[in-house]
Amino acid sequence: MTFRTRFAPSPTGPLHLGHAYSAMLAYDIAMAAGGEFLLRIEDIDQTRARAHWCERIFDDLRWLGLKWPEPVMLQSERIGHYQRALQNLWNKGLLYVCTCDRRDIETALSAPQEGVRTYGPDGLIYPGTCSGNTGDPIGCAMPEESVLRLSMEKAFVAVSESSEPCNNFTFVEIGSGPIGETGEISFSRQDVLQNIGDIVLSRKNMGTSYHLSVVLDDAAQGITHVVRGQDLFAATKIHVVLQKLMGLPTPHYHHHRLIRDEKHKRLAKRDDARAISKYRQDGATPQDIREMVGL
Ligand code: GLU
Ligand code: ZN
Repeated sequence: MTFRTRFAPSPTGPLHLGHAYSAMLAYDIAMAAGGEFLLRIEDIDQTRARAHWCERIFDDLRWLGLKWPEPVMLQSERIGHYQRALQNLWNKGLLYVCTCDRRDIETALSAPQEGVRTYGPDGLIYPGTCSGNTGDPIGCAMPEESVLRLSMEKAFVAVSESSEPCNNFTFVEIGSGPIGETGEISFSRQDVLQNIGDIVLSRKNMGTSYHLSVVLDDAAQGITHVVRGQDLFAATKIHVVLQKLMGLPTPHYHHHRLIRDEKHKRLAKRDDARAISKYRQDGATPQDIREMVGL
């Protein structure tokens, strides 16, 4: 199997130092292993993604000295794949329509029991309000524009039926999580039910979600090593469960530190002062950028 890493930016703003670090690290790791580095544009959120940002991202990455095979995978061109995967899960009765807005979820959670966590990797942990609403979806058409959630309980039953009964999930962390988690990371069904819950797999008018697309695309691109920021470490549990559920391989993960500004704040897309293009204009070289991020 070819050793493959990827960089998967969302084209919603300029590439900044944090992105450059992530992309160069993924590139360096692939080159050191005699492997391949791929690029993927995560543009499923068409309200925020802009084609002109793609061009600028390619331009900055080329300037940094990175090379990748063409054509670049665009998520906006893969909605059909995502829909087929959703349809499959829908047919198995694992998804349900959720009509709650944030207020509804907050209200349902307003009397949390002591010691119960209310925040997971996607924000508020869904209290399951709509989970009983759907009846039996088998034979009934999957709604196109609604929010679809995955029933974690049912997903675990499906995983256990399709493979050996499985109470624990694992993945290999080559880098480290926010509190130094590394090596074989193991987590239980209970942990997922309590601390993650029924996640959204298809967003309103999007026909997919970050979690569904990232898992399908990493598999489609044959990614063996996912290199990305530590902010996504917690979401990896979701990705591992989805891989098991859809019969996809689990790659190794290499989460890396986040590049922060002087005030120790994470850099954001709108942080134009740290855009790579700004450093370029000011005469920096790719080597200067490498030194700035500690590569
Ligand atoms: N598109 C995501 C981002 O720009 C990255 C997703 C990933 O690496 O898994 O934050
Ligand atoms: Zn709901």
